[in-house]
Amino acid sequence: MALSHSLGFPRIGRDRELKKALEAFWKGELDEAGLRAVGRQLRAEHWQLQKDAGIDLLPVGDFAWYDQVLTHSLTFGVIPERFRPDAGQPSLQTLFAMARGGVGRKSSNSCCGGAHPQPLLAEELTKWFDTNYHYLVPEFTADQSFSLSWQQLFEEVEEAHALGHKVKPVLIGPLTYLWLGKAKGQVFDKLDLLERLLPVYGEILQRLAALGVEWVQIDEPILVLDLPQDWKNAFERAYNLLQREPVKKLIATYFGGLADNLGLAASLPLDGLHIDLVRAPEQYPTILDRLPAYKVLSLGVVNGRNVWRCDLDKALAVLQHAHDRLGERLWVAPSCSLLHSPVDLAREDQLDADLKGWLAFAVQKCAEVAVLARALEQPESPEVLAALAASRAVQQDRAASPRIHKPDVQARVAAIGPQDSQRPSPFAERIVKQRERLQLPAFPTTTIGSFPQTAAIRLARQAFKQGKLSEAEYIEAMHSEIRHAVEIQEQLDLDVLVHGEAERNDMVEYFAEQLDGYAFTRFGWVQSYGSRCVKPAVIYGDLSRPKAMTVEWVRYAQGLTSKVMKGMLTGPVTMLMWSFPREDVSREVQAKQLALAIRDEVVDLEAAGIPIVQIDEAAFREGLPLRQEQWKHYLDWATEAFRLCASGVRDETQIHTHMCYSEFNDVVESIAAMDADVITIETSRSDMELLEAFEAFAYPNEIGPGVYDIHSPRVPDSAEMAGLLRKAAERIPAERLWVNPDCGLKTRAWPETEAALVNMVAAARQLRAEF
Ligand code: GLN
Ligand code: ZN
Repeated sequence: MALSHSLGFPRIGRDRELKKALEAFWKGELDEAGLRAVGRQLRAEHWQLQKDAGIDLLPVGDFAWYDQVLTHSLTFGVIPERFRPDAGQPSLQTLFAMARGGVGRKSSNSCCGGAHPQPLLAEELTKWFDTNYHYLVPEFTADQSFSLSWQQLFEEVEEAHALGHKVKPVLIGPLTYLWLGKAKGQVFDKLDLLERLLPVYGEILQRLAALGVEWVQIDEPILVLDLPQDWKNAFERAYNLLQREPVKKLIATYFGGLADNLGLAASLPLDGLHIDLVRAPEQYPTILDRLPAYKVLSLGVVNGRNVWRCDLDKALAVLQHAHDRLGERLWVAPSCSLLHSPVDLAREDQLDADLKGWLAFAVQKCAEVAVLARALEQPESPEVLAALAASRAVQQDRAASPRIHKPDVQARVAAIGPQDSQRPSPFAERIVKQRERLQLPAFPTTTIGSFPQTAAIRLARQAFKQGKLSEAEYIEAMHSEIRHAVEIQEQLDLDVLVHGEAERNDMVEYFAEQLDGYAFTRFGWVQSYGSRCVKPAVIYGDLSRPKAMTVEWVRYAQGLTSKVMKGMLTGPVTMLMWSFPREDVSREVQAKQLALAIRDEVVDLEAAGIPIVQIDEAAFREGLPLRQEQWKHYLDWATEAFRLCASGVRDETQIHTHMCYSEFNDVVESIAAMDADVITIETSRSDMELLEAFEAFAYPNEIGPGVYDIHSPRVPDSAEMAGLLRKAAERIPAERLWVNPDCGLKTRAWPETEAALVNMVAAARQLRAEF
């Protein structure tokens, strides 16, 4: 019998029960026993859901109070000094302090005798490979020691056993764990810690064996990355040592292909290997030649990263071929942990039947895995035949649906020519015309788009959605917000104004709601970090813009002032990255369709007399593939998509873009190729060091390096911002510099916003006087 298993299940709960319990616990409204009870209940439910769906071997260790990497840090005793309890083992308080920061008991050696508790900085959050999940970065020191310090995994195994389940504990492998961490303090090689870490893995595997566990899944997703040679070598060393521990070990890889690491992964002295055939189907059948005859091969054929039903025929064709060679040594699985998909489609009561029929969330994906495994043994069973017939019907339905396939959109994409992604004149000529038109001072001041999203704004939007506010009343409420924002910007004497984005719930959803080809779920939540979840919109068909999306708001704002108004849009790459994409056409094609829709909006804004349009591409860098070899292809189409939406306007119309992240070195060439007249970026926290990349590349267009951090309510004074601007002017010619905050101000309150902007305008004036 080909075994079906799951690599991990979402822990947040169908109704985000874990989120709610965590937040209640943090507020002091739920005690620890209550929180633990919710966790236990969710684990029990999730095992049962997977079992009922037909999964043979259930995961344990996929549950985490905040983040699975953090759980491992506690397990190994990797607890930074500042969080370490004075005595005894770490507690849930330790865990949440590492995740969220806190107030320390350890006193400082300040002037007044060190009696003040110091704020404790949380561990850093960063993206888990190329997903939108964020993990807490382990902090290692050169003298790092490791010891088994957290019993959660063993307790959960016992819990599952008590419920009568056959389980497979899931661990992050030692190399991936070390790779994900950060060396703190003195410089050293993280690999030097491996020998110290391995005994803890040995101990864990022995404990699991003693609990009667047969198989352990060890995740080593870094095997799909470009690995330095010493890390490759370390794999052999590590697993030669762990080989002798008395449990069977399945090494799991996902999010990409093994490529040059395929031989290495296949030959490690372990009992099984899982590969992701959704992301990297080309690994099959190559893998068969390299796999030793004793090993289990787990094929990830159901996409754990998206919301579409699996094409069972297609998956089965590969599985049957593998089954003929491997027999019982073949296992069937989702491509990766289901952590990255929403929980249960059955919750969706408001999706139309067509669309609902095309989707599968975690629970449904488990059923797909199970039926595929079953189909290998009992191809004629009525259940299998029915599932295959249903899958076929869905594929045919989608392939022919006029809701998906729109000839006019496809024809427009097909007709795109090179001139469509080219502004009429080069930057050097455009900027002369733009300066002539805009008449801005040196060091022009602006903001990134959003102003505080106050409670009043959210209430008005909610009331409108619930029908408690008429459309006219809602529009007036938003107009009043716009008037307020414009008035304040005039008082502050900013040079380029914005309307403030009061009408937008979210920079992607707002546009997605107005485009054809997007759908929305009610419960399609996916954990982003801790208790935070996102509910990405679903791209299901060819994308088009039935009518203008932002023009009326911006036109209204422009009508209130004689100053320059900047229109505000979200770019095609960001729209795509923060949505669930289609699987039947490439990301590139979807980006082009989005680009054409946004291009029309840019052109409409221009026609409405708006002289500057900003197209935000916050997720541009996020889209970079895990393997360097694939970067060029991505950067080419992503850049092209941006140019396509920005190039429909005259030279006199100034195009801005905005990106907020802290790493530009490897993409600055592409950013230059995007050819926005102005780019605003997040730089304040890096002390303008980010500009180095732009300087080194001799970035030719204008730049607005953020002069203050919008993530904190702190109001920097004008001298501090002027200091940053002087630093910027050492790297970028002063006549090409703009003055702006790091990002939008929607999460801030008005008082600190106004105070910071007063100082920012003063800093700009100071610089004008100096240059
Ligand atoms: N224009 C958006 C805003 O100001 C940009 C947000 C972002 O870059 N994340 O909120
Ligand atoms: Zn931003």
